[in-house]
Parts: sequence; structure tokens; C-alpha cells
Amino acid sequence: MQGNIFKIEKNALPDGQGLTTTIYFKGCPLRCSWCSGPRFKTPPKQILWDSRRCLFCGLCEAECPAGSLRFVSNKLVFSPDSCTGCRSCVQNCPPGTLRFAAMLMSLDEIMDVIGADAGSYGLRGGVILSGGDALLQPEFASALLKECHRRSIRTTVETTGFSKPLAFSRLAANTDLLIMDIKHYCEKKHVRYTGVSNQSILENLDFAVASGIPVAARLTIVPGINDTLYDAAQFGKLLAAHRVKDVILLTPKQFSNYKNGQLLISPCEQNGGAPSPFNALQYIAALQGFGLNVRQAAGSEPLVLPDQSGSRSA
Ligand code: SF4
Ligand code: SF4
Repeated sequence: MQGNIFKIEKNALPDGQGLTTTIYFKGCPLRCSWCSGPRFKTPPKQILWDSRRCLFCGLCEAECPAGSLRFVSNKLVFSPDSCTGCRSCVQNCPPGTLRFAAMLMSLDEIMDVIGADAGSYGLRGGVILSGGDALLQPEFASALLKECHRRSIRTTVETTGFSKPLAFSRLAANTDLLIMDIKHYCEKKHVRYTGVSNQSILENLDFAVASGIPVAARLTIVPGINDTLYDAAQFGKLLAAHRVKDVILLTPKQFSNYKNGQLLISPCEQNGGAPSPFNALQYIAALQGFGLNVRQAAGSEPLVLPDQSGSRSA
């Protein structure tokens, strides 16, 4: 079994409280108009082909045991569903014009990386699955989480929560902390800005809360989309109704510095409008009015809640 991994990062927690290893999964089921990581959005399995360097020798097509590559009208067409990730095409291409867009890593390879860090995790560190979204590679992600738990390593998953219940429940089963991105409280706007409905996300959120899995809802505040006090109240109402207790707020400024400092151009700015002034304290107070514990995400600080400790067993 292999996973399509965009990158792996290590981060030291503040005040020497430990270390986290973040595994960034390639691929995301949402298409947020404000996405800060478009490179993560393309499908998990993707082969890049440089037509300018291609000799059109047909070796890749001939060497592929799964029939996943074929030339159609002088264009190389890739079928990711049947691809086994054997790398034969990449290895046999004479000018080396083919490559995988992400790292194809086995469970053992990732566990080797984690194993090298594990001695430094301390009480608050551990493994974070991020992306993209691990939910697009549910079998691999759940096997990875299970193996972490087998080794008593604490796990956090940052996810859109957008998936069928079975995939979500398998992921959640070995997760000590779920950080679920709730993009918008209004289903219509959720569809407009992310391309998908929020219904399955909210159902999965209910499942996680009912199962006793520690959950934090992460709200990314985007100017012109969900940054008013009315939006805060609607979020508060929704989250309280779904029995969420902890909220992580990613404010516009933090969001623009997030994910390796990639620049955010908000939809409002793209449309030439002026973003409304955002008052984080008032926004937080509005959420707290619904009994929610709110904290601001601190830029690229590893997303581990302060009040979480110890690992749940699988
Ligand atoms: S990695 Fe293997 S199965 Fe996938 S396209 Fe290349 S040759 Fe075919
Ligand atoms: S093996 Fe490489 S050079 Fe030959 S057709 Fe495939 S992509 Fe082109």
C-alpha cells in the first residue's frame, strides 16, 4: 500500500514541549475559492508529462502493466484509478519526462520518518495528518493512524470532513484530535465557495462528537464571505447545535501568512471590493456567546490543542 504524499514537515512546539511530524496528503475534495494551497488540490495520484521532451516512443504505454497510460491524438492520457504506482513508466521513460506529482511512499517509509522523530514528541507532540485531505486516501491514512496508535504515538487529523461515513469513521477511529474545517454555515454559500454541500461534513461532525472523539472546528475567516458578526453568530448557532465545544479561528491576517506564507487574495479583493474591517475580539466574543471555547491559530504553529493529552486507544 502506498500513499501520495506532498511533503513531510517537522515542527518544534513552543517552550520545548515536543515535536510534531506533519504528513501532507495530496488531493482535496473541496475547491475553495480562497485556497492557500492549490498545489494540494489536484488528485492524489497524478503523473506529470512534459510533451516538449517526449520522444513519443510509446515505452511508457507498453511497459504499464495496468493499462493506465495510453496515447490519444498524441496526448498521453493517464487513468489514476487503475494505476498501481509501480513506477515502471517513470523508470523506463528514456528522457525522464514522466514523474509523479507527489511522493509515493509506503507505510514503512513514512513510519521510518515518524520513528526517527518519535523520541522527541514529548507529552504534546505527535503525528499530524494534513493536506490536502487524508480523506481522499482513506485506506492508507487509516493504516498509518492505526500503526501510530500501535506504537502509542498521538495523532491529530486536519480534515475537511467531506467524505462518505465509512471512510470518515475509519479515519476517526485512530485519531486523538480531529480538526475539522467548517467553511460556511450556509449550505448554499458552502456550495458556491467550495464546490460541495456541507451536509456530509456536518453529519461526519455529528458522528465524531457522538463517538467521543475530541473535535475542534476550525473557522477560516475570509473577507467578504464569513467575516461579519452576523456570520460569527450563525457559526456559533450551528456549532452549538452540533455540540462542538472547541473552535480554532484562523483570521484573515493569519490565513494570509499560513501554509508557508503563500499570499491570499480574498474573493472580495479579487472582485475589486474593499474587505470589511475584521475585529477578531468581537468575532470571538460572538462565538463565545454560544458557549464555545475559542482560540486563534497562531500562524504556522502546529495545531495541537493545549488541553489534549494522552492517546485514545484504537
Ligand atoms: S506507475 Fe505503473 S501502473 Fe501507474 S501508470 Fe506508471 S507503469 Fe502504469
Ligand atoms: S516513455 Fe517517455 S519519451 Fe517515451 S512516449 Fe512515454 S513519456 Fe514519451
